[in-house]
Amino acid sequence: MNIIFLGPPGAGKGTHAQRLTQEMGIPQISTGEILRAAIREGTPTGLRAKAYTEKGELVPDAVVIDIVKERLAKEDCKNGCILDGFPRTVPQAEALATFAAIDAVVNFVLPDEAIIRRLSGRRVCPSCGLTTHVSALNGKDTCPECGSRLIQRKDDLPETVENRLKVYKEQTEPLIAYYQGKGKVKDILCENHTVEENHAQVRAALGLDA
Ligand code: AMP
Repeated sequence: MNIIFLGPPGAGKGTHAQRLTQEMGIPQISTGEILRAAIREGTPTGLRAKAYTEKGELVPDAVVIDIVKERLAKEDCKNGCILDGFPRTVPQAEALATFAAIDAVVNFVLPDEAIIRRLSGRRVCPSCGLTTHVSALNGKDTCPECGSRLIQRKDDLPETVENRLKVYKEQTEPLIAYYQGKGKVKDILCENHTVEENHAQVRAALGLDA
């Protein structure tokens, strides 16, 4: 089953993708994670992507399309995958359609104020990858799982968050109509629900408990 996770930054796509990966045994393909790793390693792709990601702009379509095409060709994707953060533009969706059949598009719905609150308080663990929120840390700045010092992603700083939201609305939101036209979209209303409740919604949307 090839699944797309669509929705604004901070809506919880990564969290639910990580869980679903374990539950379904199919990989999570996060273009954001792949790009951050490339930037850390200083690869040619990383060097090209760095300035875009730090400003909250999208990396050029051709770069991410190549990354995803190559990744989907790997053996572990033969039973499907969860695309987390790709496609983000209509040209990316059109390119994707030439090399993968999409079974479902899960659309995470969250109002702007909640997005800003979540992103500006988000903290990540550079060692184990845990994502959390300052409101859950009781004033601590260490990872509750492994004890490493948590960091704030550069693109979660307030000035960049605003731009990411603008970019989302202009370039990614049109994908909702694009995939609605193909009858693939299942909405998940995230606000005022716990992670558990939203995860149950995701599983139901995918018919996993039927
Ligand atoms: P994310 O972790 O999904 O929020 O992605 C972080 C950043 O990586 C984005 O703000 C973009 O700069 C870049 N990025 C991730 N996925 C894509 C994509 N599909 N197309 C273009 N840029 C992307």
